[in-house]
Amino acid sequence: MTARVDPQFITELKKYGEVTIESCFNCGNCTAICPLSTEETPFPRTNLRLVQLGLCDKLRESLDPWLCYYCGDCSATCPRQAEPGEAQMTMRRWLTGQYDWTGLARLFYTSAFWEVGSILLVGAFIVWMFFLFAGPMVTDHVALNTFAPVERIHYGDWVLAAFLSFFLLSNVVRMWWFTVAKDSKVKVPFSVYVTEAWNLIVHFVTQKQFEKCDEEQKGFWQKKRWRNHWFLVSGYVLMFVMVVGFLPWFQTDNIYPIYHPQRWLGYYATIVLLYGGFDILWSRIKKEHQSHRFSHLSDWIFPILLLLTTISGILVHTFRYLDLPLPTYYMYAAHMVVLTPMLVLEVPFGKWSHLAYRPLAMYFHAAKAKAAQLQESLTTAPAAAD
Ligand code: SF4
Ligand code: SF4
Repeated sequence: MTARVDPQFITELKKYGEVTIESCFNCGNCTAICPLSTEETPFPRTNLRLVQLGLCDKLRESLDPWLCYYCGDCSATCPRQAEPGEAQMTMRRWLTGQYDWTGLARLFYTSAFWEVGSILLVGAFIVWMFFLFAGPMVTDHVALNTFAPVERIHYGDWVLAAFLSFFLLSNVVRMWWFTVAKDSKVKVPFSVYVTEAWNLIVHFVTQKQFEKCDEEQKGFWQKKRWRNHWFLVSGYVLMFVMVVGFLPWFQTDNIYPIYHPQRWLGYYATIVLLYGGFDILWSRIKKEHQSHRFSHLSDWIFPILLLLTTISGILVHTFRYLDLPLPTYYMYAAHMVVLTPMLVLEVPFGKWSHLAYRPLAMYFHAAKAKAAQLQESLTTAPAAAD
């Protein structure tokens, strides 16, 4: 089957971010310097070539853009300032739009009106929900669970989790379809999916590819980007699990002693989210790291929503401990107004979806490699027997 060529592909890609790869003359320097590319996956040069040739279907079938962790070495050393690292980032946004069947990810990445408008719309919906379902405001002491009954909020969390899971998982199926199922060169048997599944867990938990990007540093604490990213993800996942899975345990009117796990797990998640959010925002403002020299609107929205959610959560906690009823209730409503769009829009369609796509790409890549190995051993075995 011949590959489809779209001469306008580079123009389309430019809608998703900074792409200046017209000046690339394919010297291969970027691939040679990349700490993550291999003989089998010689990115970023191969990906740049696909874009230059307008081979959009080939790029959609490629896992390579997800194997790049944006260390920026390729951009720093490109003799033509073609910014291959940023081009890879832009390709990941484009791929997110391709996996998403609703078309929302594409709209969010290519239109500020849609990105900001949808956040405001979801926020307004939550305000309306509070008007409809909030309980009475007790004013002589803080009674948060009377104003925002934990059973109703918990029920809402389950609806939200079902919504997120449905859209994210259906997009994951499309990612698998494009990158694995459609690959005519290698067929992955079911047993290989099972034996290689550990890749998914290991890469989700450790994000160890990130670690290889900081080659000159040694150890977890010295590898700043990997370390900060790991803490940020751990805080986010922990908070998500507590809020969606264990809200009646987490949102109580009782004030527990400091050694109670509800307190210190909440403090851990808060500290790492606050630090991680500020670190990303500061780094983008200062353009400190190669990967932060170009910022798409989505790169700003993500840390801003994260910080607003964390700070409003801290204020709810503080007002509650100071026994200030009205500030606690209003701040709680404000907290939900920023938290909900962050989860509803960012997890299945935006930046947080990368948390799923990256380990999945490692998993699919490992499964395909294993299947290719098996295929090869089957075809060479009879020949060896002859
Ligand atoms: S992006 Fe730069 S380093 Fe990479 S192949 Fe093109 S010109 Fe060479
Ligand atoms: S940004 Fe780093 S990991 Fe990504 S392609 Fe360039 S050199 Fe490789």
